[in-house]
Amino acid sequence: MPVTISISDTFDGGNIKFVEQRVNPDDASVIDVIAHIKPDVYTELEEMAHMQYFAFRVTLGGLLSLEQEEQKVNYILANAQDVSYPEAWSGTTVFYGSDLDDVDGWKRNLTTHYGDGKLSWQQTHTRNGSLYFSYFPPFSYARHLKLISQCTPHAQVGTLGQSLEGREMEFITIGSGSLTCWIIHRQHPGETMAEHYAEGLLHRLLGIPTNGDTTGDKVVQEALQKFTFYIVPCMCPDGSVKGHLRTNACGANLNREWATVKPGYTAPSLERSPEVYHVLHKMDETGVDVCIDVHGDEELPFNFISGAELIPAWGPRLQALHGAFVAAYGRSNNSMQAAIGYPPPESAEMVLRYMNVATNQISQRFNCLAVTLEMPFKDCLTTSDPDVGWNPAQSRKLGATVLEALVQVHPLLRDESEFWKTLPAEDAYVTTTDDYESQMTSADKDEPQFKMLKKRFYSDVHEIHKQSAANN
Ligand SMILES: [Zn+2]
Repeated sequence: MPVTISISDTFDGGNIKFVEQRVNPDDASVIDVIAHIKPDVYTELEEMAHMQYFAFRVTLGGLLSLEQEEQKVNYILANAQDVSYPEAWSGTTVFYGSDLDDVDGWKRNLTTHYGDGKLSWQQTHTRNGSLYFSYFPPFSYARHLKLISQCTPHAQVGTLGQSLEGREMEFITIGSGSLTCWIIHRQHPGETMAEHYAEGLLHRLLGIPTNGDTTGDKVVQEALQKFTFYIVPCMCPDGSVKGHLRTNACGANLNREWATVKPGYTAPSLERSPEVYHVLHKMDETGVDVCIDVHGDEELPFNFISGAELIPAWGPRLQALHGAFVAAYGRSNNSMQAAIGYPPPESAEMVLRYMNVATNQISQRFNCLAVTLEMPFKDCLTTSDPDVGWNPAQSRKLGATVLEALVQVHPLLRDESEFWKTLPAEDAYVTTTDDYESQMTSADKDEPQFKMLKKRFYSDVHEIHKQSAANN
């Protein structure tokens, strides 16, 4: 009986289009499977259809015994060069796992290679049955609903409204402090690490593993005293279910929907971006003293924080708050660092065109610390582990350890004195650079996996920089 292979993406968050299967031209014992990543719905504002996230299921049959036979399969994503950030493929390794729900059982396929515009890897199948591949382990809608259920006995769980397809925009409120902290996740649905982060944060803050008892965790106790938290674990539930990279059901890139910056394109709107509309409306009601917007970055192999540099409200106060927060986070989690990230924008004029980005809009609107947190799709070079790379467990831990950083900076958030004049040097603002290769030791540089072909960044706030360069 010949080996049979079937490819599907009809599960929560799946994304792939099967193209063809053939015998490998160089080795007849190997099967090539050619597939395409599917684009998101067209984005009117950016005049493009984003794509890069993929997740699919392979069902293999025909192996004669469980142990004695194997089948090598080359998986080839033939349209990889047409994605939103093709430069990011270099150094990327694909995840595989046999259980969609057991996100900690997934591993990286280290044969992953980008060349000739194609992303490919070889998997040796040693048994019949199904195996999943993805850019990053999915955070399914079922898992999302489970997380909401887990939160329900221990906090106020509500909905701010509904997405375009009628999914609830759930938010979790907990704490009794005078400072209002908003933490929002997964505006970009393909950045699944952002909801794994939310899970880690909520599990700790609500004491979910200990049935709501957080008395043994002094940091949580203090956080709940100082802050009232508003947490949105998934900003883009429709795009998440559809396996989109960056957009909701109608193609809106939610992190460009926080203000109107283009004549004739009103944002946010109930028609195009109700997800942002409802959250911003609630923020106006509660006020915001600090906001963290959690994302994933395709290109940089680091965790980093991107701020609201050069918005009209930017100055010594917001800059000092940003520096103190990043430094405190680096102390609470050794995979957070301050040096590498998107270079800040060059001009205040340019930033005015990007007041539709959540961090810029929220920081300006509420004159508060607001940051974009980025986690890598790749391995994180500060705490490198190529076999698993940056992964759901580390994302959860990063989410849980944000509480130390928030507790440390809380006295500064609404301090009206010139506190920045007396902060220790280690808490100073650091201007980030994306040129991480020059910052690494020569030993690290020899790691071929992380050689980059070309330095070009198109991700969130970095677009400001790109546009600025293009206009010059
Ligand atoms: Zn993002």
